[in-house]
Amino acid sequence: MAAETAASAFAERYREQVSSLSATELVQAISEIEAIYQTVSKPMGYASLRFAADSADAAVGAFMQKQQERGTGLSVTLMFFELELQAIPAARISELVADPALGAYRHYVQTTCAMSPYRLTEKEEIILEEVANTGSRAWTRFYDETLANHEFKLYRPGTDEPEIMTEQEVLDLLRDGDRAVRQAAADSLTAGLTEIERLLVFNFNNMLQDKAVEDRLRGFDYPEQSRHLANELDREIVDLVIRLCREQYGLVARYYHVKREILGYDELTHIDRYAPLFESEELIDWDSARELVLTAFGQFSPEMSRRAEEFFVSNWIDAEARPGKRGGAFCSYNTPDTHPVVFQSYLNKLNDVMTLAHELGHGVHASLSRAQTYFNYHGTLPLAELASTFGETLVFEKLVEQASLKDKVALYADKIEGMFATVFRQAAMFRFEQRAHEARRSEGEQTLAQLNAIWHEEQQAMFGDSVKLGEQHARWWSYIPHFVHTPFYVYAYSFGELLALSLYGKAKEQGAAFEPKYLEVLTRGGSLNPEQLMAIVDVDLRSEEFWRGGFRAMETFMSEFERLWAEYQAQTAA
Ligand SMILES: [Zn+2]
Repeated sequence: MAAETAASAFAERYREQVSSLSATELVQAISEIEAIYQTVSKPMGYASLRFAADSADAAVGAFMQKQQERGTGLSVTLMFFELELQAIPAARISELVADPALGAYRHYVQTTCAMSPYRLTEKEEIILEEVANTGSRAWTRFYDETLANHEFKLYRPGTDEPEIMTEQEVLDLLRDGDRAVRQAAADSLTAGLTEIERLLVFNFNNMLQDKAVEDRLRGFDYPEQSRHLANELDREIVDLVIRLCREQYGLVARYYHVKREILGYDELTHIDRYAPLFESEELIDWDSARELVLTAFGQFSPEMSRRAEEFFVSNWIDAEARPGKRGGAFCSYNTPDTHPVVFQSYLNKLNDVMTLAHELGHGVHASLSRAQTYFNYHGTLPLAELASTFGETLVFEKLVEQASLKDKVALYADKIEGMFATVFRQAAMFRFEQRAHEARRSEGEQTLAQLNAIWHEEQQAMFGDSVKLGEQHARWWSYIPHFVHTPFYVYAYSFGELLALSLYGKAKEQGAAFEPKYLEVLTRGGSLNPEQLMAIVDVDLRSEEFWRGGFRAMETFMSEFERLWAEYQAQTAA
């Protein structure tokens, strides 16, 4: 209960005092509240790691829930601090921010006060916070639980007895090598979503309206504004990135035309988007993967390699595949006074090496950011995938150097599909969200058919004539959790990937001069906003030319892929 005692003491000491604090006193207060939040985040972080390592352990679930409730209690006690800070007149905030005594907490004060115009009174904030537990949060949970527990019936080709599957299992089968199995998965997904369509449409409308109401009460002008504020980005920058993505949709069509040729189909539909081209041949054992990643990192930056090596030496990677372990991979970095950890199930495939490189990219970022205090430790979402994509690309080039021609084609296809799913698909999703929010605000409740039409139009625009999205696909917006959980989250993916690709191009141009600046960006963690961080590497996020660099990089991957495919065909024909 140390944290609760500290929180009460903090409230006692500072309530109704925040506006009269000097810069030095404010620093003292922020470091105290920061220490409380850091303390409570540890058991929570521990619980989620334990849960990932062994999801069958029921005690961990209960422990996690308990810590979550504890966190809510503490935020209510401590909420006054932010609100009082936000109530300080702008002129006084400018003075404080200009005071060198504020040091690294300048960013905390600036980002907190950027929300000032949109905050309500403490009483109103508490009401919103409390009713959200039975309002939007309850609806989100209901949505999650409904989808997670819904039984999808899969009829394997040639059978009329269904297999009962989870949504995730059905989605995985959309990547099956057998087209008939993919069609069966698409049928199963569509039928399952149809069974609960009333709920999904009602829920989504409700979330759209919930956001509209909160935005109106807080005084936001347009639906994505609150997300931009949280991401510390201007509308102009985000709109520029999305516009360029839409202009470059032709790259997607170019890729899928080649994919159709490789698969030997007359036409690609929604069930062929994730069809595997061919299995990679080579296997890479754990020691070789370690060697490969550290060498690739080291050729760019010895410091980066040294930081990554620490994960192997100190046993900060859980790479063993075993029953009960959660799927997927991630790098967890909770507080700067504890070390980051990487989590994956390594199965010796080329793809596993890429995953390791990706997570260790995050790992190096986290390791360097430990120079910051807790409030400045984590960067904003749009920069979250910068170091991972960068690290992955370094290793990709190394991996390709030594691969067979066939593996090269497969590696390039994987890389391109991954990039496109991140850059273009998320941009199309962002457009869907924008239009859905606008339509709900101007026209009222949306029907399934109306929402389907928006989804179909935006997704089809991305594929052009290369993939014909069938009727089934129109309702597939309804299982995307981001739309319900975190409106407008998706554009950060496009943003981050393009940023990393364009920066990678700069790194190659500038050679050794780039390395120290890049490491500086990572070391700064979340102590600066994205524009300030990118200024360290001489990047202007408002520059169209900079973003075009990201598309040029994708185009280079695409041309190399086409060249390799032609070479492979010539070789197999001979
Ligand atoms: Zn990542």
